[in-house]
Amino acid sequence: MSDTGQRWQQMRKQVPEDVELVAVSKFHPASQLLSAYEAGCRVFGESRVQELCAKHEALPKDIAWHFIGHLQPNKVKYIAPFVSLIHAVDTPKLLTEVNKRGLQNDRCIPCLLQVHIAQEETKFGFTPEELTAFLAEGSWRELRGVSIQGLMCMATNTDDMLQVRQEFARVLSLFQELKQRFFADNSEFAIRSYGMSHDWREAIGEGSNMVRIGTAIFGERTV
Ligand SMILES: *Cc1c(COP(=O)(O)O)cnc(C)c1O
Repeated sequence: MSDTGQRWQQMRKQVPEDVELVAVSKFHPASQLLSAYEAGCRVFGESRVQELCAKHEALPKDIAWHFIGHLQPNKVKYIAPFVSLIHAVDTPKLLTEVNKRGLQNDRCIPCLLQVHIAQEETKFGFTPEELTAFLAEGSWRELRGVSIQGLMCMATNTDDMLQVRQEFARVLSLFQELKQRFFADNSEFAIRSYGMSHDWREAIGEGSNMVRIGTAIFGERTV
């Protein structure tokens, strides 16, 4: 088996069974994704629309494609027909656009809301206060073309794993609070997407049930 296939299998064994493993394949060639596929991988994460569409065309049709990056509203239409989960919905405007394209495609597109929790200016997402206010306002309940299935976040990029754990713990408690307040009767709101190659153990320790792992499976990205 290929090195990539072996690394995927090792990762799948280490990550608990009830945690979804998204293989983040951005910037790697379709041939390398196929190696992971042949080892059993069926869930891939990409962060550029054009690249995602090209790989979706080229690779087997039983793959679940997750869009994990920052998404511009004007590009939603290209992925709306087939994307399985959009991780990083970071504005009401983007959610509205996903809803529109979902309806056009006769789909209810699964989405996560991105929470900005890291101490970095550059990260996208709703602050916890913005997110609570947005959900309290309630107009999202009218949207039939999207399904809000949970939260996504990225921790600060630091070696201070105590800080990373604290950030993940904050997202877990926010998830629980929002679940109780807005989604108590909605079993679809269940996903906590956090944890990458360097912090997935901490993430799972703080309640993640979906990790997004790239480098540890596919190696360093050269782009
Ligand atoms: C690239 C990326 C990952 C994977 O990062 P690795 O450190 O390579 O595991 C996870 N999530 C998002 C949003 C990314 O952009």
